[in-house]
Amino acid sequence: MITVKNLTKCYPVGDTSFQVLKGIDLEIAQGEFVAVMGPSGSGKSTFLNLLGGLDTPDSGEVLIEGNPIHDLQERQRTLFRRKHVGFVFQNYQLLPTMTVEENIAFPMEAEGLPKAVIAETVASLVKAVHLQGKEGNFPSQLSGGQQQRVSIARALSMKPRLILADEPTGNLDRRTGTEILDLLLSLQKNEQLTIIMVTHDVFSASYADRIILLKDGVIETDIKQKEGDHHDVLASILAQLNA
Ligand code: ADP
Ligand code: MG
Repeated sequence: MITVKNLTKCYPVGDTSFQVLKGIDLEIAQGEFVAVMGPSGSGKSTFLNLLGGLDTPDSGEVLIEGNPIHDLQERQRTLFRRKHVGFVFQNYQLLPTMTVEENIAFPMEAEGLPKAVIAETVASLVKAVHLQGKEGNFPSQLSGGQQQRVSIARALSMKPRLILADEPTGNLDRRTGTEILDLLLSLQKNEQLTIIMVTHDVFSASYADRIILLKDGVIETDIKQKEGDHHDVLASILAQLNA
């Protein structure tokens, strides 16, 4: 599904520059649920943005289903992203002047899909994320968990095979966060979506079947969890994070 080769990224800092990513190599298979962890400032969001084509690397490659998105011109990259990648952010990024329905419809409107297709897709997504009755609400009239469910519905509207979620439960309490994680897990299990989720929270990471730890610009650890060994694996990750 995704191949990353020797990915690097610097940000300018005054007259010099700061190298956030120093050469990331990674393969992610279709249908995997991957958690990306690491200390604050370790480049998790930068990495996710490069994977989804929100930003471009200094060097290296990102192939999504064979498409070299690092190589696309900005316009092509935007088109690819809109069609093939669903983004979910910690702060939901909903449009405040649009209703639930309008927010979910927005990517499809931008793509110029037929009105009937849009209406049908919105209705089924509203149901899938359990927001029936809230279609006409504005984001300010929803709880955090409901806003995040709108943002997930919007991410799904173009039927991407890949969801990139940056701290999707970061602003939510444990119970609401669990609902969001259960929703993401059901998308992986039932729709075979590939999910890459940045989180600094071990509980959230325990939903993933693979955990990648970014530290000092490289992948320090990459572990696949097997059924039943979550706790051992997570304990070892916690130990490394605290090292
Ligand atoms: P994380 O998501 O792991 O907390 P980020 O990817 O957001 O980390 O940021 C990694 C580092 O790069 C941080 O030190 C941050 O300050 C810096 N950084 C992120 N975005 C920019 C930017 N647009 N310009 C300059 N520095 C940035
Ligand atoms: Mg971040």
